[in-house]
Amino acid sequence: MKIQFLGATETVTGSKYLLTHEGMNILVDCGLFQGRKELRQRNWQKLPIDGKDIHAVILTHAHIDHSGYLPLLVKQGFKGKVYCTEATAELCKILLPDSGHLQEEYAEHVNRNQITSHKPAEPLYTELDAIKSLKNLVPCDFGKKYVLSNNNLSFQFNRAGHILGAAMTLVMFGHKSILFTGDIGRKDDPIMLPPVAVTAADYLVIESTYGDRLHRGPKAKNSIAKIINNTIERKGSVLIPAFAVGRSQMILYYIHELKRDGAIPDVPVYLDSPMAINATEIFHRFVKEHRLTPVQAEAVCSTASYVNSVEESKRLDYDETPKIIISASGMAAGGRVLHHLRVLAPDKANSVMFVGFQADGTLGDALVREKVRKIRLFRDFIPVRAEVHYLNNLSAHADYLELMEWLRNFDKAPSKTFVVHGEAAAAKTFQACIQEKFGWKTSVPSYLQEEELS
Ligand SMILES: [Zn+2]
Repeated sequence: MKIQFLGATETVTGSKYLLTHEGMNILVDCGLFQGRKELRQRNWQKLPIDGKDIHAVILTHAHIDHSGYLPLLVKQGFKGKVYCTEATAELCKILLPDSGHLQEEYAEHVNRNQITSHKPAEPLYTELDAIKSLKNLVPCDFGKKYVLSNNNLSFQFNRAGHILGAAMTLVMFGHKSILFTGDIGRKDDPIMLPPVAVTAADYLVIESTYGDRLHRGPKAKNSIAKIINNTIERKGSVLIPAFAVGRSQMILYYIHELKRDGAIPDVPVYLDSPMAINATEIFHRFVKEHRLTPVQAEAVCSTASYVNSVEESKRLDYDETPKIIISASGMAAGGRVLHHLRVLAPDKANSVMFVGFQADGTLGDALVREKVRKIRLFRDFIPVRAEVHYLNNLSAHADYLELMEWLRNFDKAPSKTFVVHGEAAAAKTFQACIQEKFGWKTSVPSYLQEEELS
């Protein structure tokens, strides 16, 4: 068995791991690179293997940095099955066509504004390519063993607790195994079920998004209440950029509770993302996958008015009633949230509240970490006078202590642990932490690195 790291090495996006065993090529995760330009350019580079030579893909979850390369792989001749959990398949049906649509919009934008050396610039893939790739999806159950080749190669999904359908993937080859954690959720997440405790694997590929950070500070709910109350008192509005899948539902949950308890005023709440609306409906359907009862899920979902059309979305900004708008994308890297930012950011009465991880090179990262107060949106420079907040304790990822606690479930050390899916500093800090606390053999693989597994 050989593994090659085709993404999520010293960065959080582009998750792709190629396993080669007895003539079979299996790709675990098939994600897009996002964020910095030099990372995004990797989406255009040829993979070291032809699409047609890959026999199967296994997806840990639906987020685009784990699934968004799939339409391109199919375009490159991949014809195999794409194994994932049922909820992941449902979420991919929303996320992938939208990703294709965004690629087309982006190509059109650079062509229209002549900011490209390619004449004309082509999209990475189209909405239609994405729709075509969906027929390869094969929904699987948690906890069941699926054979990939004559019993010598098989896999099993276990709950990861990160978003709906998120699964750790244990690949078994001969008498050995390798576990891919995918993104790991949090034990005490108010909505998602906790990640399953794993006690053994010969090799481990673990995420490290928060490998050097703790989700500390006041309780998320209190922070949200404070920001909303202060903003509404100033007659401003609160804009919450949030991932359509996962964070949007979590924010709705907190706002629902705060309103119910009278801890915030009863201002209008808008969920302005067709994807988030669809994801919220899927949330309703997969009751066994989260902690909420159908009645609770219904109450949470009806906290917001759903905004479908672009016109409705634009109208929101010009109505001066104080309100809360939840809109994608979560890192303000695209989507409707940019239009809201353009109108709301210049007014100091408003607040922008980021609630998830902000990857290097994204607008969210510039606002939160670099604290830039002038941003470029649609060719205009926009002053940022609104308050910018970042709530670090609302993440859908375990922090490093939670990761360490999860690792303690192992009965014995894996032969080798690969630390991936973290910016370089986070991955290296987490690697050092595992080595120091457990004495395990670890490495932070580099892009395209290959490694023989015995
Ligand atoms: Zn994720």
